[in-house]
Amino acid sequence: MPKSVVIVGANLAGACAAEELRDMGYEGEIHLVGEENALPYERPPLSKDFLYDGLTAEDISLRDNAFYSEKKINLVLGSRVTSIHPDEGKVCLQNDTEIAADNIVLCTGAKLNRLASEFDGIDGIYYLRDLEDSIRLRDALTKGGDVVVVGMGVIGAEVAASASKMGCKVTAIEYSSAPMLRCLGDDLGAWSKAMHEAEGVRVLTNTGLADVKHENGHVTAIETTTGEKIPATIVIVGIGVTPNVELAAAAGIELDNGIVVDMDARTSVSTVYAAGDVTMQPGYYGGKVRLETYDNAREQARCVAASIAGEEQVKRRAPWYWTDQFDVNIQIVGSVNDASDLIYRNRDGERSFTAIALEDSLIVGAVTVNRPQDMGVLRRIADRRIEVDAAKIADDQIQLRTFLSA
Ligand SMILES: Cc1cc2nc3c(=O)[nH]c(=O)nc-3n(C[C@H](O)[C@H](O)[C@H](O)COP(=O)(O)OP(=O)(O)OC[C@H]3O[C@@H](n4cnc5c(N)ncnc54)[C@H](O)[C@@H]3O)c2cc1C
Repeated sequence: MPKSVVIVGANLAGACAAEELRDMGYEGEIHLVGEENALPYERPPLSKDFLYDGLTAEDISLRDNAFYSEKKINLVLGSRVTSIHPDEGKVCLQNDTEIAADNIVLCTGAKLNRLASEFDGIDGIYYLRDLEDSIRLRDALTKGGDVVVVGMGVIGAEVAASASKMGCKVTAIEYSSAPMLRCLGDDLGAWSKAMHEAEGVRVLTNTGLADVKHENGHVTAIETTTGEKIPATIVIVGIGVTPNVELAAAAGIELDNGIVVDMDARTSVSTVYAAGDVTMQPGYYGGKVRLETYDNAREQARCVAASIAGEEQVKRRAPWYWTDQFDVNIQIVGSVNDASDLIYRNRDGERSFTAIALEDSLIVGAVTVNRPQDMGVLRRIADRRIEVDAAKIADDQIQLRTFLSA
């Protein structure tokens, strides 16, 4: 019997794991099962150019159908996996089909946190996770109106920028003291708030959602925890996600705010692996982390494939991600959130600067604003754990790449 891998979740991590397995010479069967109907696609454009630049589903597909046929990847779309049985070597699908599996890979991602159920069914409230959400939101934003964004994490901040670019009047409310606080920390969070305000977004921090007002089933306004009533025809909710761990939980796999995996992306059950947003993994800087980023999904998918194909493991890199808002590209490596002091290069450039967090002369976090070249070098410095001198790295006249040869 040929070996067989069943990958549950046909999006970024799942599709990359399937592709990597073939690239690494795995000759067994590969079944990639996903509940969405669309071919595996890129989510990052959904909150950005898919909304304002008229992209199509085809534009954001990772690969076309022919690719999966050529690679002999059995793509099963529109089909939900209802249970996994590693001991019996099989997974079950919603239509009572079973697929034999020597290895199971869980790439089930995360689901959106939603407002209290009393607000279900009110027309004009939007969430954004998948392609269909983005199509619905685009249709609404194209018509224009008063938009309130609830939650200014990365996705909320991106959507606020996109809605504003599309000509809507945007107010964003954020429970904490700054937008994207978890990624940027206080200093840069304050900068981000000012940047959004300069673009015309009204940003209310330390402000939560108290109520959604509606008439004839359609939203008319929201009320904030500070008592303000803000007119709204469109409310976009971005209040985080929860990992889809139900299949793993039912199979007795260890969980901790996600599916716990080791450095090889293996779960507590030796034939089951997991990758992407759903995992809780050993952090590059110690501890455990759950990363909800594009790069992590790809890297962990490669790691799963190497484990199953018996190939050499991929060298780990410091976590990295990006976001685009208005004309600003922000890239983040590691975390600057806990830094008491950030070192700036070119801080006077309002929309072009770099911030670095050092700990014992090592880069533990850095943020670049419209300076992707800096990020390229900073990632290499962080990955190689090269010690740097604080005064020198603060000097924008000294090229960052000189630290690579230090
Ligand atoms: C709007 C948006 C914008 C983003 N922008 C950026 C960005 O700019 N930069 C960045 O670094 N990251 C960004 N990300 C994050 C990045 O896209 C995610 O980290 C990445 O998609 C995670 O991939 P994944 O495969 O782990 O999970 P997902 O992409 O969520 O895929 C999981 C899939 O599993 C399916 N599934 C779940 N349960 C089952 C089941 N039981 N049976 C079958 N199928 C199942 C789901 O339907 C889904 O298709 C963005 C995310 C979103 C939503």
